[in-house]
Amino acid sequence: MKHSILLMAAALLSVCATSCGNTSSNAGGELPVPVVESVADGVASVKVDSATTLITLRDNALPATQPNSLFYGLDNKDSALVEQLSPSGSVPSSVHAFLVRKDNKLALFDTGNGIAKGGMLLARLDSVGFGPENIDYVILTHMHGDHIGGMLSGDSVVFTRAQVYIPQVEYEYWLTQSSANGQLAVKTVEAYGDRVHLFSYTDTTALPLGIRAMAAIGHTPGHTAYRVGERLMIAGDLMHGYDLQRQNMDISPRYDINPEQAAATRKFFFGFAARKHMVIAGMHLPGNGVLMEAPSVPESAE
Ligand SMILES: [Zn+2]
Repeated sequence: MKHSILLMAAALLSVCATSCGNTSSNAGGELPVPVVESVADGVASVKVDSATTLITLRDNALPATQPNSLFYGLDNKDSALVEQLSPSGSVPSSVHAFLVRKDNKLALFDTGNGIAKGGMLLARLDSVGFGPENIDYVILTHMHGDHIGGMLSGDSVVFTRAQVYIPQVEYEYWLTQSSANGQLAVKTVEAYGDRVHLFSYTDTTALPLGIRAMAAIGHTPGHTAYRVGERLMIAGDLMHGYDLQRQNMDISPRYDINPEQAAATRKFFFGFAARKHMVIAGMHLPGNGVLMEAPSVPESAE
């Protein structure tokens, strides 16, 4: 483990000494709202609770957008609505991975596009003192290329020590796909060999650190959200264009394999996070990829 990891830990502690006791509160007034602190370019830190630190890692080099047309829907049915709600013509987006530090272990949620496609994940990790060999667990929300692309460098595993957790139903779907994405999913799982743990949603003890998997089906057949402690939700790809979709959660991008199911799942989980006053970390949320408080689900989308 690199020497600078200690500096990072000290920096995180000092951040928390000054701001983690923030007194601003949610609408209910029961719980303090955690504060996000910028740590380095494309990296931010959130002390979610006394045991859990979230570090956001932006995989894309620069802030990015998605075109409105991504959200037009089948036969462009939503094009007029999308243009009305997003008059600038595009929607801020990103590709993120998230590192959770808990019980002196490091869990990495998703791995971005990979260096060969310009992914910055390893550079971001390095900027806060971690190498890929420091990662204890890699936990996947699903197996699209912008989430598993960072797991291999050529044919070699990147996270040389990590145990890997994948929803079984997600992997079984990709096994049936002859597409490039399907081939990448199979190649990745085979490369990690017996360090891969395929889990079912009914096995509540399958994951380390008390992390709980929640089926969030729709974007893909095994798309999964994770609950870390009481206050953090790793939301995967529930949203690809937050500024647009928060206004109408029925709008789905064409990346959602089952758009109607994805919309229902999106509304359920944002409602859940709002009720529980959870921090939401989403792989394609704009900015640093994290929402300190869930937006309320618009009434029109209920
Ligand atoms: Zn994605």
